Amino acid sequence: MTKFNRIAIANRGEVAVRIIKACEELGIESVLLHSEADIESRAYRMATKTICIGPAATAESYLNIKANINGALAGGAQAIHPGFGFLSENADFAEEVAQAGLIFIGPSSETIRSLGDKVHCKDLAKKAGIPLVPGYQGEDQKISKLIQKAEKIGYPVIVKAAAGGGGRGMKLILNSQDAGELIESAQREALSAFGSSKVFLEKYLDRAKHIEFQVFGDSTGQVIHFFDRECSVQRRHQKIIEEATSPSLTDELRRSMGEAACAIATMGRYKGAGTVEFLLQDNEFYLLEVNTRLQVEHPVTEEVMGIDLVKMQILTAQGEYVHDPKHIRLPRGHSIECRIYAENPFLGGVPSTGLLGQIHWPEGPGRRYEYGFDQGDTITPFYDPMIAKVIVWDENRPRAIQKMLRVLKNSTVFGVHTNIPYLIEILSHKEFVMGTMTTRFIETYFSESLKEPELTDLEKKIAQSALMQLRQQNGVSESSGTASPWSTFWRGV
Ligand code: ADP
Repeated sequence: MTKFNRIAIANRGEVAVRIIKACEELGIESVLLHSEADIESRAYRMATKTICIGPAATAESYLNIKANINGALAGGAQAIHPGFGFLSENADFAEEVAQAGLIFIGPSSETIRSLGDKVHCKDLAKKAGIPLVPGYQGEDQKISKLIQKAEKIGYPVIVKAAAGGGGRGMKLILNSQDAGELIESAQREALSAFGSSKVFLEKYLDRAKHIEFQVFGDSTGQVIHFFDRECSVQRRHQKIIEEATSPSLTDELRRSMGEAACAIATMGRYKGAGTVEFLLQDNEFYLLEVNTRLQVEHPVTEEVMGIDLVKMQILTAQGEYVHDPKHIRLPRGHSIECRIYAENPFLGGVPSTGLLGQIHWPEGPGRRYEYGFDQGDTITPFYDPMIAKVIVWDENRPRAIQKMLRVLKNSTVFGVHTNIPYLIEILSHKEFVMGTMTTRFIETYFSESLKEPELTDLEKKIAQSALMQLRQQNGVSESSGTASPWSTFWRGV
């Protein structure tokens, strides 16, 4: 058992803040390993110690294994928390962290290799009798072979990078004419983005829901689950709104999916927090993949289960956390998370960068804000545009939706555009309210940009004066920058 005095954080933004807070709860100091571009951020101001590990480019900082390990050693940390994204699912990183005499806060490199590799994970699942989407994941990667397999599966077929993730490296093949070209381009893209051209094929399920289970292996290796989340609201295969628990599962489905999730995690000797993802269509479920890390949407599980997953991760890595068999674990009420992106919803979601002006997140019962930036910080173009997460809890789903709408309408972010107007539209949509949405919900109903709202005279005045105040504060002259107040301003109405 190793008690940590100091933990290094190999990440940035809101998740770095989340980890610092868990460290504070446990009386552990934090060392933020950051890039040159992330000096203006909450995590930078909150960490006990900060170490710059490289320039803005991720390959030279957040994805640089040596730089992160050297930073952690120089900062006097005993362990590294990788957060999510970046190196969090990189088995080589987990291994090198251990070789450097540090503890990786997450599953072992062997677990990451066996479950994190999508193809290997499917092989394990097959052995365990867990249902898989019909497909082909063989070694033979010749185009002719892949086309032949696609024909056999039957179109539409989805081609995915074996080493891919984050919704990237996927292509939908609708018919045999396009198959060869799409498979070739998927292989090329997989090679350049993930360093391996290996792809696999799956039948495309066109009316599926994305349901996932939060699993957790304690220090003794006992795996249990903390129920499910539904993440069907996705744009380009990336989640936007998540909730716990899913409104779509019967007790029977929940039981059998939960059992399958624990079975695969147990086979991979899982320790710490992980997520088993499924697609659900016509009451049949299929394993999609296992994410061997903390998930962006972990707060909704924390809210309904009354747990702190990051604290549990740290305690597990210290060899201290053991599931209590007497503890009855049942979800309570309903929780929803919205991802806040710095992007322009009126221009198809193009990223929006710049200096943040006044920000207001309205406090109240059952409201939680996870954010990485404050007024005066700059949103740079170098990283993922997710700047915050808004999480609500209420006694049931309709009330949680109402609370989220109220919260978003009363949240203010000056200086950059956000997707808040887009989220409000989604939350108000009949299909979302009924809980019947599938992963094609956004593409079906929200494929175009939102129409810019008409501001009232009062709102125009407020926007104009806020813009002038911001310019004065930052010494920007009246003539420079954008002329229109609402091109740099949004308030939910
Ligand atoms: P990643 O690891 O890049 O996130 P996943 O395999 O987890 O990729 O898939 C991400 C999303 O893409 C899913 O939640 C789902 O919406 C869609 N998707 C993936 N595979 C299929 C499939 N076979 N049929 C339909 N949709 C799919």
